[in-house]
Amino acid sequence: MPSATPSSPHVMNTYGRLPIALSHGQGCRVWDTNGREYLDALGGIAVNTVGHNHPKLVPALQDQLTKLIHTSNYYHVPHQEVLARLLVERSGLTNVFFCSTGLEANEAALKLARKFGHDKGIERPEIVVYEKAFHGRSIATLSATGNPKVQAGFGPLVEGFIRVPVNNLAALKAATEGNPNVVAVFMEAIQGEGGVNPMHMDYLRDVRALCDTRDWLLMIDEVQCGMGRTGKWFAHQWAGIKPDVMPLAKGLGSGVPVGAVVVGPRAANIFQPGNHGSTFGGNPLAMRAGVETIRIMEEEGLLENAEKVGAYLKASLETALAAEIANGGVKEIRGLGLMLGIDLAKPCGALVQRAVDAGLLISVTADTVVRLVPPLILSRAEADEIVTILCPLISALLKEAA
Ligand SMILES: *Cc1c(COP(=O)(O)O)cnc(C)c1O
Repeated sequence: MPSATPSSPHVMNTYGRLPIALSHGQGCRVWDTNGREYLDALGGIAVNTVGHNHPKLVPALQDQLTKLIHTSNYYHVPHQEVLARLLVERSGLTNVFFCSTGLEANEAALKLARKFGHDKGIERPEIVVYEKAFHGRSIATLSATGNPKVQAGFGPLVEGFIRVPVNNLAALKAATEGNPNVVAVFMEAIQGEGGVNPMHMDYLRDVRALCDTRDWLLMIDEVQCGMGRTGKWFAHQWAGIKPDVMPLAKGLGSGVPVGAVVVGPRAANIFQPGNHGSTFGGNPLAMRAGVETIRIMEEEGLLENAEKVGAYLKASLETALAAEIANGGVKEIRGLGLMLGIDLAKPCGALVQRAVDAGLLISVTADTVVRLVPPLILSRAEADEIVTILCPLISALLKEAA
């Protein structure tokens, strides 16, 4: 993040903000209040699935605004039933709880895991979580997060987590050996904030099998990598497995806050009336946004687009940065579909402002990783433009003295 420039004496100073304000957008382009144009390779942090001002999404939301924005979960909400069915069909799971954000979806997942344990007589349930994981900023989800910077100043952390390294089955087995209190394994299929770190397909399959053998829930946080970003609806589907619990948010509403926890049969009946809830969760405006997002994704072939344009972008970055890859300045280009990370051999936070100056919106995570999570409508020409703007900035940064 860039250096903090408070924009107002009244807005709490929680983000180091870039010195621009965006006023409107169209597709993968946004304009600031001075009329400058930017190519949006950040998509509101993997949120703006169908881009800005989409010609089908906007009229649908306008229509919904004139009918109902919010009712409450005291009544049936027909659009919840539609969106739940769409998510169930695409995931192969069975039931959905709706909320509004990623951390809220993950809180629900953690509560499900604990109650799953209590229902089998485990009074102090423990959940396996990962190094470098990010699950949100509530007290429970920041405790599950594997980043000391997110946790600093907010102790005591919530107990009941066992932390293991990614992609290491032996370490997972060793850390849980003989422990009767383990109830779940909780992971991102591709870690986002932690630096775009994919779980290996074999590892996902092995953990699925281990969870089956030990009667643990497999909970896969697809808040960032889900909703078509990798070219399948959900990133874990590349491994041919199903989780028991899958939190979603970010891309699900194309910018309208929508969160969901999608569960399979083992977790479908854990919550009973009174166990969990959310005032905003599943409101008619949010549900309409989710339904229309999925409809547009299918009508416009956005899964296929994410897979193809993502592969093209990755290959183009590899070509343009071949010299830097050869000399070690670029350590790796990772990710799947339109969730890519360029891992550099040195911290690269300065690139965010330089990219803005050059008309491109990106982010940097885990200090050294340039993250690209553009809208899933990105074209090949726009992918070329990302490469043309970004790669010279990376090369120049790598040539500067430390
Ligand atoms: C962004 C993110 C969250 C938190 O989502 P919020 O909507 O900011 O609460 C949780 N998990 C993952 C994997 C994320 O990328």
